[in-house]
Amino acid sequence: MTTAQIPEQAIEFFYLIATALFVLSLKWLSAPATARRGVWAGEIGMVLAIGATLLHRGIVDYTWIAIALVVGAIIGIPLGLVHMTAVPQRTALSHAFGALCVSLVGTAEFYQRTPHVPRFMMAVLSMEVILGSLTFTGSLMAAGKLQEVLPQRPITYKGQNIVNISLLAIAVAVAVYLVMHPGETRLFPLIIGIPLVFGVLMIVPIGGADMPTVISLLNSYAGLSAAAMGFVLDSKLLIIAGALDGSSGFVLSVIMSKAMNRSFTNVLFGAFGQVQPTAAGAIEARTVRTATAEEAAAILGAANSVVVVPGYGMAVAQAQHKVREFYDALTKRGVDVKFGIHPVAGRMPGHMNVLLAEADIPYDRLLDMDAINPELPQTDVALVIGANDVTNPAARSDKSSPIYGMPILDVDKARTVMVIKRSMSPGFAGIDNELYYLDKTLMLFGDAKTFVGDIVRQLAGEGLGSVAGV
Ligand code: NDP
Repeated sequence: MTTAQIPEQAIEFFYLIATALFVLSLKWLSAPATARRGVWAGEIGMVLAIGATLLHRGIVDYTWIAIALVVGAIIGIPLGLVHMTAVPQRTALSHAFGALCVSLVGTAEFYQRTPHVPRFMMAVLSMEVILGSLTFTGSLMAAGKLQEVLPQRPITYKGQNIVNISLLAIAVAVAVYLVMHPGETRLFPLIIGIPLVFGVLMIVPIGGADMPTVISLLNSYAGLSAAAMGFVLDSKLLIIAGALDGSSGFVLSVIMSKAMNRSFTNVLFGAFGQVQPTAAGAIEARTVRTATAEEAAAILGAANSVVVVPGYGMAVAQAQHKVREFYDALTKRGVDVKFGIHPVAGRMPGHMNVLLAEADIPYDRLLDMDAINPELPQTDVALVIGANDVTNPAARSDKSSPIYGMPILDVDKARTVMVIKRSMSPGFAGIDNELYYLDKTLMLFGDAKTFVGDIVRQLAGEGLGSVAGV
């Protein structure tokens, strides 16, 4: 297969359009109403970028590229078909593949150019290989922890941070030496090997609950390594796309850390996410008030205002379409129904917005935490569907709680609270929830999809509006 002869300017023009689409994509992705457009813009931008690259004159033969495309598609398509709750670990795998690719390209460039590698080139090449290698193993570890093929709990030992920081420092020192003496080819494997080990050790002490934040940070590293590769390969597109990826990943990590009231250092070194054995033990001894779907429907049907708080359980149960039916049924009765969205509800940023948008729930009914909290004390019923940690009042009052300081949805301030979940099991942070033991709280035990469906059926039945409940 031979290459087409396309003028260089045409390729640069496609790159320019792709770059503009990447910027617009990020802009549009930041609001639920424009998010779909954002995805399309990103996808079209990427197709243009890849397509234009394939027309490059530097390519002398397409055979290997075609083989790589087929192999990539065979691996990539099944990977893309995962359930939405598995998206964080799948994203981590994508970062791992991207970072491995960056590291391999950097290595190939080094051995092709050595011993005549200019200093600036050697500096960016080292950055590319170090970041690419540590992101590769770090992302594989993160994916393994989220998929629970590796233990989720943080594994810590004395002097751990010193070991980790020393390893990284050695890799950087070798890189600096290589910049000064690029002919020292035998040292190059060290800036691959040490970061590979560092990537594993970096993730070992971080608990499963912090993994999504860490994945976002790894995303940022992958972007920065791609930007460094852009300098090595003299590709403006890679520099810009890598920088966008690097900065947006970093901003997202900051937003997620803030939403959990955690500092970056605390996420990276805090060993958060261990199951609290005392809290789990205490669950047995206490009693809660329960209600059936019929009783719940009676109270909800008689309410003036209902705030629905969805969480991870709604995602697992795929209950969003039933929740839409629930919204329709109550709205038809004249009940004011709103949704309170916590920024870290679920297992990835925007998780709840995506699910509720999929079910066509109007965007103006989705209120973020700061907007809905002042309304909760005047709300008749707060209905929590598969959310736990994001509603736990311990975050406000219990200084010993691992989630202390995390802003929460103040559902306990509503007149009546209902919680749909299957059992008294804790959420991702592994801690008990005081909300369930309040006098005003009714536990609705069951799968979210089934239970919401049962309530909808009850609401469709006769005579519910006449039962006074709140
Ligand atoms: P949680 O993980 O706290 O709780 C989810 C609850 O859903 C569980 O208690 C579980 O109880 C219930 N559940 C599970 N399956 C079902 C089902 N089929 N039907 C009904 N209920 C079900 O989720 P939240 O959304 O409240 O909080 C998210 C957590 O993830 C927070 O700790 C947050 O810090 C963390 N996190 C989230 C990130 C993000 O980007 N979204 C990023 C980093 C961390 P049961 O088993 O009894 O049914």
